[in-house]
Order: sequence, then C-alpha cells, then structure tokens
Amino acid sequence: MEKVHETVLEIDLNALTRNFQYLKSRTNPETKILAVVKAFAYGNDASEIAKHLETLQVDYFAVAYTNEGVALRDAGIRTPILVLHPQSINFKTLIDRCLEPSIYSHFVLNTFIEVAEAEKQSNYPVHIKFNTGLNRLGFDGADVTKITTTLKNTKSIHAKSIFSHLAASEDLNEKIFTENQIQLFKTISDAFINAIGYKPMLHLCNTSGVLNYPEAHFDMVRSGIGLYGFGNSELEDTHFTPIATLKSIISQIHTIEAGDSVGYNRVFKATKKTKTATIPIGHADGIGRQYGNGKGFITINNQKAPIIGNVCMDMIMVDITDIPCHEGDEVIIFGKNPTANTFAHSANSISYEIITAISQRVKRVFLK
Ligand SMILES: *Cc1c(COP(=O)(O)O)cnc(C)c1O
Repeated sequence: MEKVHETVLEIDLNALTRNFQYLKSRTNPETKILAVVKAFAYGNDASEIAKHLETLQVDYFAVAYTNEGVALRDAGIRTPILVLHPQSINFKTLIDRCLEPSIYSHFVLNTFIEVAEAEKQSNYPVHIKFNTGLNRLGFDGADVTKITTTLKNTKSIHAKSIFSHLAASEDLNEKIFTENQIQLFKTISDAFINAIGYKPMLHLCNTSGVLNYPEAHFDMVRSGIGLYGFGNSELEDTHFTPIATLKSIISQIHTIEAGDSVGYNRVFKATKKTKTATIPIGHADGIGRQYGNGKGFITINNQKAPIIGNVCMDMIMVDITDIPCHEGDEVIIFGKNPTANTFAHSANSISYEIITAISQRVKRVFLK
C-alpha cells in the first residue's frame, strides 16, 4: 500500500469480496442476499460499494432514504433497491426511479397507493414491514386483515415481500427473545399469505441474524456490517476483514515542558517534557470529542499514541513521547488492526457509529 500524504479512508474492495463470499457461505443456498448500503454504505461510498457488489451478483440493495436510492440509480445501479424508511413527500421520486418502499403503517400504505394510482402504476412492488419486538417501525400482527383488504382493493401495488427486523440478534443472552421474534414473524407471515392468496418473499435477518439464526434465513437476508468487515463478536470478527482503513499523517511535532498545555481550554497539562504530534483529522471528520483527553489512541509505527487534550474541529494532538517518528509519517486511526471496533470501544461506541461518522470531506481511495 502506498504511503499517504493527507487524511484518507482506504477501501479494500478485495476484502469486500471476501466478506460477501463468507456471508454467502453462511447463508442457506436458496436464500437471496440483500446488501444494506444505507448511510453511504456505512461510510464507505455507496455507489462504489454497490457497483462492486453488482459484479458479485448481489440480489438486492437497501438504503434508508429515497435520496440514497436516487444516488445509486444516478450511479447506474440497476439491481432492485428497497428503501427502508421513505417519507411520503418523496413517493413520486421513488416511483420515477424504480425504488421499492418499505410500507410500515396504514398511513404510509394509503398514501403510497394514492401516489401509485396517480402515477398509473400496476403491481408496483412494495415491502410490508412488521414490528415483532424492536418497536421502531412496522405494522402489528393484528393489522394483517386490514392491510390485505387494502391491497386487494387496488391493482396499483403488490406485496413483493414481508419483513421484520431483529432487536438483539448479536446478543446470545437474548436468544429466547429473538426466537420469539422469529416465531411471531412466521405466524404473521402465514396469516398474511393466507389472507392475500400469494406468497411474497420473507426476510428477517441482519448480519448477526445470518450468523446466529440459520433457521431464520427465509427467502432473503439483509446484511450491512458484515460486508464492511465486522461480525459483532470476537469469534465472528475473525472471519471478516474490515474493508476501510482511516489513515493520516503527522503535520507537526512539538516538544513541550512540564506545565505547558495542549489544545483548547488547556485540558491536557504536561507533567514532564512531552513530545506531541498534530494530525489533520478532527471532529468535523467524524472523530468526536469523546475520543479526546486520553480515551482514544492512534497507531504510529505500530505503537499506540493517545489523543491528548480536546479534539479540535480539524485536528487532534497525540502523545508521541516514546515513539520514534517524524513529520510527514503515516498514522493509522483504525483499519485491519486496530479495527474501528477497537477504536470505537475506547469511547464507549461501536463499529457502526464510527464508520458511518467519517465525513464526506475525507477522501475515499479504492484498492482493487
Ligand atoms: C441497517 C439494517 C440492516 C443491516 O444490519 P446489519 O447489522 O448492519 O447487518 C438490516 N435491516 C434493517 C431493517 C436495517 O435497518
């Protein structure tokens, strides 16, 4: 890998291939794979990630919002795209761009039908979302008759899938809760299929669901974090490779004396002669203030350099007293080792949060 001269997020597309193949190997052979590429593909650049996954014959994509789906269509993505949380103001755009909405309430259902009818659609694919315990979005099981009655009264849309979302698939202490969710999903789907008279696709599992509940793969699984290299457990992490490495450089080195302070509000005060390095990455790039004041650390020449003082908007300062290094040297914030998960844990966060936080001003570089 080439040395960097500025802050970059390096994305290893070969690792993405390996993670995809591993997830596929853990998924029932008949089951389709939907790649979740919401939030800029968890910070990695949705268009590039989706293009690469299309070459691997992924079956479906999901995004959270309509504009994320529009960006994928603009990038030339042709695979079906499920929009998990569309707002009714965007329904016309959603139809214009062949995006498929998650329908999670009677209001959303009725509004979507109105727009689909106005747009002269027939059998437009929609995905009916049920709440089985996460209590976030979704119909209740008791809504089945009302939904299927509404669906039977229009030719404009049809239920391409029925789905739900697990609340704690990575937490084996919640196995009974998850098994109840799986059972409830089966009961609701059976009732739905009976009432509607055809069989939509069924899907329930996210990444940890794929790994921990093979009996619940149904017709499709929805994976996000696994594709990007995290298995949500120490054991599963060993089967995945983080695809993103956040790198930067040392802009300047200072030597300060006991009593000198570093950064805004003088939170760090040296108790002895200390060498510090200033790195061009800050909270505006996604390294939140919670990583400051000794919590987070970066890696310089394979040694840990703690972040000292407050995180600034565009910079952090790290302690390099015992690390031989020079201005211009490369530093690693996270990557294959230490991983984003390790970095996130230093400030009570999780891989999902830190990788999606890396802001758009950080240049993405793709390794093929
Ligand atoms: C984000 C999301 C996923 C992906 O979850 P991972 O844990 O990243 O695999 C799947 N389904 C829904 C509904 C989601 O919102």
